[in-house]
Amino acid sequence: MKAIEFDSVTKTFPDGTVAVDKLSLGVENGETMALIGPSGCGKTTTLRLLAGLEDPTAGSIWLGESDVTRVAPANRNVAMMFQSDALYSHMSVRGNLSFGLKNRRRFWSRAFRSGSVDANSSPERIVEGIGSVAKRLGIEPLLDRKPHQLSGGERQRVALGRAMIRDPAAFLLDEPLSRLDARLAGELRIELRQVFRDLGKPVLYVTHDQREAMALADRLAVMDRGKVLQVGEPLEVYQRPVNLFVANFVGSVPVNVLPKALLASMLAPAGAEIFGFRAEHVGVSGKQEGAGGALSFRARVREVERLGDHALVYMDADELEGARLVARCDAETEFRPGDPIKASVDEERLMWFDASQQRIKS
Ligand code: ATP
Repeated sequence: MKAIEFDSVTKTFPDGTVAVDKLSLGVENGETMALIGPSGCGKTTTLRLLAGLEDPTAGSIWLGESDVTRVAPANRNVAMMFQSDALYSHMSVRGNLSFGLKNRRRFWSRAFRSGSVDANSSPERIVEGIGSVAKRLGIEPLLDRKPHQLSGGERQRVALGRAMIRDPAAFLLDEPLSRLDARLAGELRIELRQVFRDLGKPVLYVTHDQREAMALADRLAVMDRGKVLQVGEPLEVYQRPVNLFVANFVGSVPVNVLPKALLASMLAPAGAEIFGFRAEHVGVSGKQEGAGGALSFRARVREVERLGDHALVYMDADELEGARLVARCDAETEFRPGDPIKASVDEERLMWFDASQQRIKS
């Protein structure tokens, strides 16, 4: 039994848009699953379906042993955090943290008119919960501040704390770091990973940033047009993508792609039409002789993009019908536009694809 389970879930909006198409996906307790894919592929709709903010057109959604497909959002006990999570501006951080619990207390006592409330929201539990969550997220010194006295990163931590304190059955996060600058997002990414590990709950995390997904997730689900194309550990998906779309999406630089005919000297697997290789697997030398590898060709540098810790060398491969390719090189590379170079790729780095761009497993 999975902590979160989508069983062949489809969401068709009234205008006919199929946002989620027969999606099946399971997330374990203590596991962080990143949903990634291009804009409009159905990531947010998937989260909203789990939170109960959208009704599925078909299929069922489970939280542990409960079929929650038709359960109202308030009764699902999932915490959802958005990219611009609004805190209550008139309340202190402490007030914001406890708000969800106080509300729940009121809800339950009204529902049963008995004054008895669930254990999670007794006053002692609230104080205790705020203390431990604030400590865990490093926001203890900020408890008496108002939201406008916080930085963007601090606000996101408070929003996460508010979700954690409710002790939900699942955490759903939609681009929680996308409004932060790159450095802060990088720092929070590492902290979030530790927090998620300790929570022991399932986390479904939406991001369009493949780096963030690789760094945070135990597993990735790559989506396109409402469908999940591949689920797996980040490295597995990176090294063994099921098709060219996934290969491109999980890399920071598009895969170099060439027709099979350019590798006449090599035995291509049956059905192969094109082959590809990643920029970091291209060896580049200024010497014209000696470079080995299954694929070895002369090229001319077109452009060098310096990115601090590495450089991307874009080239025109004269020997491969002028194909435009890219190699990842050391930051200190001295190549300049116009330089003749020799490039090579080892055989085990080549990825083969059939005519419909599915990877042929070799
Ligand atoms: P992004 O990365 O841009 O946030 P996403 O992957 O989260 O995109 P969704 O917001 O889930 O994508 O949208 C999936 C598809 O459903 C898109 O084509 C979108 O236009 C469409 N869609 C979303 N909400 C509605 C709606 N209420 N009515 C009709 N179509 C919708």
